[in-house]
Amino acid sequence: MERPRITVFDTTLRDGEQSPGCSMNVQEKLRMAQQLDRLGVDVIEAGFPIASDGDFEAVQAVAASIRRPVITGLARACTVDIERAWQALKNAARPRIHVFLATSDIHLKHKLRMSRQQCLEQARDAVRLAKSLCEDVEFSPEDATRTHTEFLCQVLEAVADAGATTLNIPDTVGFTMPAEFTELIQTIRRRVRGIEKLTISAHCHDDLGFAVANSLAAIAAGARQVECTVSGIGERAGNASLEEIVMAMRVRPDLYPYDTSVVSDRLYPTSQLLSEITGVAVQPNKAIIGRNAFAHEAGIHQDGVLKNPLTYEIMTPQSVGVPDSTLVLGKHSGRHALGLRCEQLGFQFERRELDEIYRRFVILADKIKTIQDHHLLELIRKTFEQMQRVPPAHVGEIPMVFAASASSGHSVSSAAYFSKPSALPLPVDPKIRDLPLNSKPDHHCEQEDYLWGV
Ligand SMILES: [Zn+2]
Repeated sequence: MERPRITVFDTTLRDGEQSPGCSMNVQEKLRMAQQLDRLGVDVIEAGFPIASDGDFEAVQAVAASIRRPVITGLARACTVDIERAWQALKNAARPRIHVFLATSDIHLKHKLRMSRQQCLEQARDAVRLAKSLCEDVEFSPEDATRTHTEFLCQVLEAVADAGATTLNIPDTVGFTMPAEFTELIQTIRRRVRGIEKLTISAHCHDDLGFAVANSLAAIAAGARQVECTVSGIGERAGNASLEEIVMAMRVRPDLYPYDTSVVSDRLYPTSQLLSEITGVAVQPNKAIIGRNAFAHEAGIHQDGVLKNPLTYEIMTPQSVGVPDSTLVLGKHSGRHALGLRCEQLGFQFERRELDEIYRRFVILADKIKTIQDHHLLELIRKTFEQMQRVPPAHVGEIPMVFAASASSGHSVSSAAYFSKPSALPLPVDPKIRDLPLNSKPDHHCEQEDYLWGV
């Protein structure tokens, strides 16, 4: 039997970007969107076009250049927002307008100062307008989990009649619990007329630490789209973490027999790129992508992992793209290995650019022996800063060296389990800062040619 497919809706560039210190400019959003495309997400929410000219430009730029995934932008349930969103999205290959309006009594009374009836009419009219512009329309009743269930179902039915194609159920304030959210999704499926033709979506926040658990509960109850962010960034305690949702389904298909199109071994490089762009590090013990997620410190754990990785590992580091010890970059690594790692981190350089990166890489490797991802990202940033240019982002397909997946067994050498995954971006390393721009490595040029072919 074919397994149901879950649409992965990434909102790193919209909800994620709203978290403190995580704002991104147009170029940064574009780089991140290109990496999200490579990661395989189905929908990219690129921004909130009415919020600022920068956000408008970012959505427009992503819509114009990222052609595979659906590209969406957020709009309040009013004409000016919806028209602005459409202006930004209209050149997308697959545009979607995402309209939202709060439906809970507490929001209606204190924020919107409107009655339930006014709310229902405004939601319906807004979706109707969006539908007149764009075939693909998503509606979110903000604060759905604190909305009176009967009224929530009435609003959902009204917007479904008006042409919404995806009904998203946001736990805006991170209030719900898995059993309760399961029941809510089941009730919506039972009560909303015509729901079987539409996609139900979940959008969970992590204020009580249940965002991923609630998202998985929604999927098990029939939701077929999940909204999430890379590294779980987002308002307050953050959104549901994309990597945790995806890997929960990969590691426990017995409980979650669903497929996604996410390429799991690109999860770690994607998270690294996000940290590099925002300057915000991931907590070390974060599941899947934290620095310590695959590091074993306790002697008994090390002993067990040496005998058989299955004793303490439920997935391989390679399955999520954490570099293998055999791929640690040092001064004996060639340009090819360096170029490949750069591509995995989201950069594709022309030969001349790679030459410059490589020259500085060799000098640095002489000093600090092992080059971790954060060193490399700093080095790339510094190089381009001094060249007064923006680093190009990767756009095409590349062969991945980390081919293992969670289900492909534990063929990795034991040594790999003791190599600490790369540390996260740190303040600029003085060793890198002091590197002269056009310095030549003290290697003979023949050796350089040799390394080029490695
Ligand atoms: Zn949100």
